[in-house]
Amino acid sequence: MESYDPTPLIDLCEAILADGELSADEVYRLSEFLNATPECTLHWPGKELATLLVEVWKDGEISLDELGQVAGLLVEIHTHWHDRIAENGIDVPASLLPAAEQEDAEAFSLPKIDFKTTITSFTTGAYEYEVDLNEPSCTCDDWKEKRSKLPRGHFGRCCKHIISLMKNVPFRGKVRILIDAFASTGTTPHPEREWCAGNLDGDNVFVSSPAYGWSDILVQSSEKWAHYKYNVLDSRWAYQKEPAQANVLLEILTDAFPETAQSKK
Ligand SMILES: [Zn+2]
Repeated sequence: MESYDPTPLIDLCEAILADGELSADEVYRLSEFLNATPECTLHWPGKELATLLVEVWKDGEISLDELGQVAGLLVEIHTHWHDRIAENGIDVPASLLPAAEQEDAEAFSLPKIDFKTTITSFTTGAYEYEVDLNEPSCTCDDWKEKRSKLPRGHFGRCCKHIISLMKNVPFRGKVRILIDAFASTGTTPHPEREWCAGNLDGDNVFVSSPAYGWSDILVQSSEKWAHYKYNVLDSRWAYQKEPAQANVLLEILTDAFPETAQSKK
């Protein structure tokens, strides 16, 4: 059994990724964390991060393109984390399934799923979280500090542990598709954003209301998901990465959340 547990580093990566575009300050914070805990850089994901960070700091400053590269790696780490948790095989009892399907109603909110379990961190099991899908709730710091006061069924109640567990419950409908989109793009729903479903040429799109100026846009194309962030105050895409059919996506966003159109000229 390995003695290194990447949980604190993964939590930091997630916190950094949570708001909008990455800033040079946040990348600096990450570099400092790695410098202070050299053991991290011998294992996934600190090793990969350290390699990239050395590269981006080489000239002493970070371009928007380099911030985009770091953000891309953080997303990869997060999706890989979901895969590893899934490999740990959390069994969801079959008796749950009909109840979960009944929740497939018109309401676009989290279904009540009568199931609780314990998720342990990767290798050492040093971190344990009690996850209850009914509310849903979790005992991690992210959930207790930012998500516990949201109303039942709000997507913002989902920390990454809840997403990774809910992903294994085979209920159906739009919410199911949104959960898959969260897991496969390494997105943890921001506690202060609401979600709305849309459609782009028959493919699923999900858009969020803005918080701190940023909206999330999840787009499906040939089974794969992409995550874009749009700044509604500056009318620009994060890291200058503009998706295909950006104008249609922005129409979906402003239809769902008219307040996002205010700043547009
Ligand atoms: Zn949690």
